[in-house]
Amino acid sequence: MSTSPADLVREFHRAFGLDVRSTPAEVSPELAAHRRDMLAEEAAEVEEVSVEGPLDKLAHELADVVYVAYGTALVHGIDLDEVIAEIHRANMSKLGPDGQVARRADGKVLKGEFYRAPDVSSVLRRQGWTPAAQEGATEVGATEVGA
Ligand SMILES: [Mg+2]
Repeated sequence: MSTSPADLVREFHRAFGLDVRSTPAEVSPELAAHRRDMLAEEAAEVEEVSVEGPLDKLAHELADVVYVAYGTALVHGIDLDEVIAEIHRANMSKLGPDGQVARRADGKVLKGEFYRAPDVSSVLRRQGWTPAAQEGATEVGATEVGA
């Protein structure tokens, strides 16, 4: 049995008749709001146990967040594994060829001169997404914000 979150969550959605899309698309405002609320609920449950624990509860709630996030991606027809790979590529580009890492005082890794921001728009377009035409829209992907 696969333990990939994408596979597990797809199995769940199919078993319970929940939305499953294979091409990225906007969904109804009602469904989008429902997914937002579920994710916010799980994120709040992580917050409750992040500092005081217990550790098993933290692990449970972190898994719930990932599960619901994958479900939200599936509802929107987004292959989230490919998006995560793009985020990872961008994060790794913070490391220069010399292996030097610039850090902020709190330990957060800073973007160096070799950093290339994630291009999530391109990932979704490869998955078949056709962005809706927007009034005054600039070049596709031009407004991408770095991690
Ligand atoms: Mg939970």
